[in-house]
Amino acid sequence: MSPLTAPTPPSPRLLTLLSGAEALSRTRDLRTIFRNAAECAMRFLDGRFGLLFAVRFTPPDLTVGLLGCCVSDGTDTYWEDVCDGNSWLPVDPLLGGSLETDFGHAVSQEGDTWRLAFAIGALGQARWVLEIHTPQAPSEADCEALKLFLRCFDNQHQQWEYANLDTLTRLLNRKTFDDDFERLIAAAELAEQARKAPLERREQIQPFTQPCWLGVVDIDHFKKINDNFGHLFGDEVLLRVADLMRQSFRSNDKLFRFGGEEFVVMLRNVAEDHVHSIFDRFRRAVERFEFPRVGHVACSLGFSRIDPRLSPAELLGRADEALYYSKEHGRNQVNGFDELVMSGKLRIVSPAGQAQIQSDIDEIFL
Ligand code: GH3
Ligand code: MG
Ligand code: MG
Repeated sequence: MSPLTAPTPPSPRLLTLLSGAEALSRTRDLRTIFRNAAECAMRFLDGRFGLLFAVRFTPPDLTVGLLGCCVSDGTDTYWEDVCDGNSWLPVDPLLGGSLETDFGHAVSQEGDTWRLAFAIGALGQARWVLEIHTPQAPSEADCEALKLFLRCFDNQHQQWEYANLDTLTRLLNRKTFDDDFERLIAAAELAEQARKAPLERREQIQPFTQPCWLGVVDIDHFKKINDNFGHLFGDEVLLRVADLMRQSFRSNDKLFRFGGEEFVVMLRNVAEDHVHSIFDRFRRAVERFEFPRVGHVACSLGFSRIDPRLSPAELLGRADEALYYSKEHGRNQVNGFDELVMSGKLRIVSPAGQAQIQSDIDEIFL
């Protein structure tokens, strides 16, 4: 009989990676998915500094945009979101080297620091690169283990997209709107508090002191486009309008396809004086665009300020009333709920709406 050998205990570092993968599989929020993945990889490799980049390949250019960075003092790891989405840099040789194979990696030594880059995704389809700086050279086995973990991250991100994006336009879907709305209300509440605070305390409460806004966009006479050109060209119009939205609004504004030919935009930290022109810039972009085969298309918009005291349904109702006004008064135009009410063009009929306006007036005069 062969003597019984005690099983080798798993290494604590491998357990770090496994528990990171388990935590990732439970994560539903996109920013947290990125943060959990980067922090876990840093802990596993004893990284001191980490950068997570999005990869963009628009032939012949291969560029990266920073999503976040991670710093560790050897005990605790801190992640910071960057994601301005506007700065795309050419890949350096290390990052480029990792992108040459499926889930590839590249290593280089610079002084007493090891720079490691891990491509996340198949060759030509990688969507992220993770760069980690470590004080020691990693083993090949560690790199392979980390790549398996990064595949879990990639799968989790695909699940997130499946649940949160509209399949046609790749804008956020209606379900995500409901989830994000609470967060936006919280941001609006903080901005409101900051506005009312003494000047020197404002920055402490919230760096954004301007209001949040909700805009509803509806393509004009879309049914005619479908009837005259067919659904495929109708879908093409929806795709191009979504692209125009991505180009017109800032990368941290939230863009949703609500259903059919209706879209919703959430803007954060925008001064009242600017909001009309921001929405109108998008309306003009649609008006000017030459849609394939279909030619010119217009859209109408309505928007309302996000008042944290109102329910999502009431806020959407206000933006919808402003949109309805745009439709009724010639289409291809933008109207704001507050402006319409103040100028007497829109009457508030619901008792809840009247009570709200009354409490706004009380607040102004108290
Ligand atoms: P209005 O200017 O008043 O908004 O008129 P409209 O024709 O745009 O609005 P209406 O609500 O009468 O018609 C919307 C049409 O959108 C009807 C529906 O067939 C079409 N539609 C909804 N979803 C989709 C889609 O995913 N693809 C395409 N091609 N058409 C869609
Ligand atoms: Mg329409
Ligand atoms: Mg509609």
